[in-house]
Amino acid sequence: MKNSEAGMNALHAEAGGTLAFAIYRAAQVGQLLGRVILGDDRAGPLLRVVQQAMSNPQPGCMCCDRDMAAGKVAAVAIVAPDVPAPRHGLAGAICAACAVETDTALTEKLCAFLKKSAWPDLRVISPVQLQPKGGRA
Ligand SMILES: [Zn+2]
Repeated sequence: MKNSEAGMNALHAEAGGTLAFAIYRAAQVGQLLGRVILGDDRAGPLLRVVQQAMSNPQPGCMCCDRDMAAGKVAAVAIVAPDVPAPRHGLAGAICAACAVETDTALTEKLCAFLKKSAWPDLRVISPVQLQPKGGRA
C-alpha cells in the first residue's frame, strides 16, 4: 500500500467513488493476530499492513500531519475501496495526540484532513445513510 500516483489511480479505479475507513489502535493488533490464528483469510494481509504502518510510518500523521516515527504510532488508519475484498488501499499512521479521540471523532478528524490534503470532494456517508431503513442491502 504505497501512496504513489499509480497506486492512487488503482485505488480510485477499484473504489468506484466509495471508500471505507477503518482505524486500528495499537491495542487491537493482538485482536488481528487472534483472527489470523482462527483462520480469518482477510486478517493476515490486514495485520501485515497495520504492522508495517506502525513500524515504518509515513512522515506525517494521517490526521494532523505531525511528524511521525516508529514507536510514536498510536493507531493506523486504513482507507480502502468499499468492496468485499479490496486489493488496494492506503495505510497511514496516527499520532498519540489524535488517537486519544473516540473512533467517531477520530474518523471525522481523519476525513477533514484527507478532504483538505488529498480529496477535496470527499463526503462522509455513514452506514445509516446508506441503508436508512436498516437491515441488509
Ligand atoms: Zn495526529
